[in-house]
Amino acid sequence: MVVVMSPDATDEEVAHVVERVEAVGGEAFVSKGLVRTIIGLVGDIDSFHHLNLRTLPGVADVHRISDPYKLVSRQHHSERSTVWVGPAGHQVPIGPDTFTLLAGPCAVETPEQTLAAARMAQSAGATLLRGGAFKPRTSPYAFQGLGVRGLEILAATREATGLPVVTEVVDARDVAVVAEHADMLQVGTRNMANFGLLQAVGEAGKPVMLKRGMTATIEEWLMAAEYVAQRGNLDVVLCERGIRTFEPATRNTLDVSAVPVVQATSHLPVIVDPSHAAGRKDLVVPLSRAAIAVGADGVIVDVHPDPETALCDGPQALDGPALRELASVCRRLPPVLGRADAADHVRRG
Ligand code: PEP
Ligand code: MN
Repeated sequence: MVVVMSPDATDEEVAHVVERVEAVGGEAFVSKGLVRTIIGLVGDIDSFHHLNLRTLPGVADVHRISDPYKLVSRQHHSERSTVWVGPAGHQVPIGPDTFTLLAGPCAVETPEQTLAAARMAQSAGATLLRGGAFKPRTSPYAFQGLGVRGLEILAATREATGLPVVTEVVDARDVAVVAEHADMLQVGTRNMANFGLLQAVGEAGKPVMLKRGMTATIEEWLMAAEYVAQRGNLDVVLCERGIRTFEPATRNTLDVSAVPVVQATSHLPVIVDPSHAAGRKDLVVPLSRAAIAVGADGVIVDVHPDPETALCDGPQALDGPALRELASVCRRLPPVLGRADAADHVRRG
């Protein structure tokens, strides 16, 4: 941490900052420049926070030089992490050495629709099944999902296909039942900063997929991940799903830069959701190509056996032909970039 004094700060004010820092066990190194004095602090950053240094007389600014998150930062964990998803004996990797395709219906509607979507996903090379049972809809009049019945359908679909399941939880009170049925808990964009929910999923004992808030900075997103990690769960996969911008041609704007930025600052895996970013089927394959090229650890897409009848997000769901095109991209492009297919690295022990 660095304290920048204002140009007219007095020697007493500088001495006062040093005194406060030393009082909490820190060390303060004063450098006097021609115009201003800066003070470098060494010690426990949390104890410096409690000093409210910015409010002390003569202080112009305070800068952190370490990340505001610890457990998810690469500063003390330089190796990038792999998160394993699935029951013992069938765990799918999401991490730096592999490429993982996750696919499935936006919403679970019926057992038949879910199974058909899962078979489509599987035939395209997906190793994890997505599907919403609790749907966080913008309108309270829109289909809200089947709830626990939807979870049961997902669990039955896992039995039928062998695909581990990722599904969203929107309320801390539902975490236990979702964790009972699913292999990975999804926290959606609308709940990224729901800190009670983040803490609850952090205690649920299952890996978490944390989507980026649609108006969240990357730093806010990583701090949300820190909430999960702080509850003892480091199995967090981040998912870039587009952010709100002024551009109306797409539902959101996919922030491809977020992938390498996250990878430089956090050890957590990061995947991309081109379906929710674009909101349009025709952009899903091009954006998937971009995601793979920029280094994403996986891609998650919506598929539906009959998008026209979908109860949720039909316009962005891939149908058979579009999915085959995606499958071809996901088979050919990751190896060029040195990534193995997650399907070949499933942990069966
Ligand atoms: C979803 O994946 O079904 C979803 C609702 O996504 P997001 O939270 O990114 O809108
Ligand atoms: Mn959706």
